[in-house]
Amino acid sequence: MLIRLRYWTAMLVAGGVAFGVSQYRDAPTALSTAVSDSAEEEMPRSATTADDGLAPSVADAGDKVSTPVDEPVTWTQVVGAGDSLSGLLAAAGLDTETSRDVVQAIGSEFDVRHLKPGQRLALNVSSDGLPKTATLEKEDGSRIRATFGEDPTVQILPPQLVSVRRAGEATVSSSIFAALDGAGIPTRFATDLELVLAETFDLRTRLGGGEHIRLMWREYRSGDRVVGDPTIDFAQLDLADGRYEILWPDDTSRRTTIMKDGVLLQTFDQPIRGARLSSAFGMRMHPILGTVRMHSGIDFAAPQGAIVAATQQGKVAYMGKRSGYGTVVELDHGNGVHTLYAHLSALNEGLRVGQRVETGTELGRAGSTGRSTAPHLHYEIRVNDKPVSPLADTRLRGSGNPTPLTESLVLVGDMQSELDRLLTSNG
Ligand SMILES: [Zn+2]
Repeated sequence: MLIRLRYWTAMLVAGGVAFGVSQYRDAPTALSTAVSDSAEEEMPRSATTADDGLAPSVADAGDKVSTPVDEPVTWTQVVGAGDSLSGLLAAAGLDTETSRDVVQAIGSEFDVRHLKPGQRLALNVSSDGLPKTATLEKEDGSRIRATFGEDPTVQILPPQLVSVRRAGEATVSSSIFAALDGAGIPTRFATDLELVLAETFDLRTRLGGGEHIRLMWREYRSGDRVVGDPTIDFAQLDLADGRYEILWPDDTSRRTTIMKDGVLLQTFDQPIRGARLSSAFGMRMHPILGTVRMHSGIDFAAPQGAIVAATQQGKVAYMGKRSGYGTVVELDHGNGVHTLYAHLSALNEGLRVGQRVETGTELGRAGSTGRSTAPHLHYEIRVNDKPVSPLADTRLRGSGNPTPLTESLVLVGDMQSELDRLLTSNG
């Protein structure tokens, strides 16, 4: 059943997903819908997809939206000036009695006389024409959802964050910062690129001008508002000596993959899923001490409480406090190789010193204990008690990691296609 009205967005039953995010492994919420995004005017060289039927702007004609699998027929309407709830419901084809039930249900939590332009109404209707749910989304992204049937309820749902994938491209003339800025791409990605490539080459000195950069990232929205920081997902750098491609881990993965001209150049597995590097290994200005010091590991940005996992199988060598490091877990991987996970807020209560752990075993939770200004994870690899760069060291790769390299290569291929699609559909 497909209902199409003048200002209504055509909704397709799930299965015919027109825009690809829902096919992605990182579609972040239970909803599996996808929409194209119409906010492209502000960023003409980029493109987006989203995966919520309600939250993103879908008012422009021609957008297609697929409904979640468990909601057979959905339609939404953006409230216009002068619209009333009952008027919208009548326009949707509901009879007077049914419409009154919906108005009454929504009205129990919201003064329907205060309907405002820009709010959105979504209805799920079963095949007999009766509403299953009616949802009104307010400007702040919170929603009032009335469920009908045997056990009717009205709920107020908090704002739902939706991740929207975006893509953009830029050509370097003076600096990478200027190039990204000029293309409307978040300039913070220049830092992400520098950090992830720290052991491959020095990005700043490598760029002489004329290099082409294509990036894909996720931003997070509640309703129409972008909230928090965007997260870089994939990069293609066309440099003088070839094409470098970087795949960052998504929220289900701990692996970064770097390729050159289609050939695997480097991978590394990190202790926190989806986290991004925030500090490189080696000499740096210490943020608290204010002097140049050796940074004996790498840092990952992570919220308080994020799960910290073993990067490789091994034995617990130490758990507890260590000066400067706060609460730590140290693993012994044999052959003199140790890993260290620092500034933890909590230890996995089930672990004991001497116990064997597998790759991915939870060791504790990220925090800010010890000498630390904000929650993050400090991660070290030590060989015979000497710190080595975790990005470059290959001793921990291979056996014991449940994610085979071929899987990473397939994901790179997926990302290439998605990037092409987003940039093309936008052009
Ligand atoms: Zn650190």
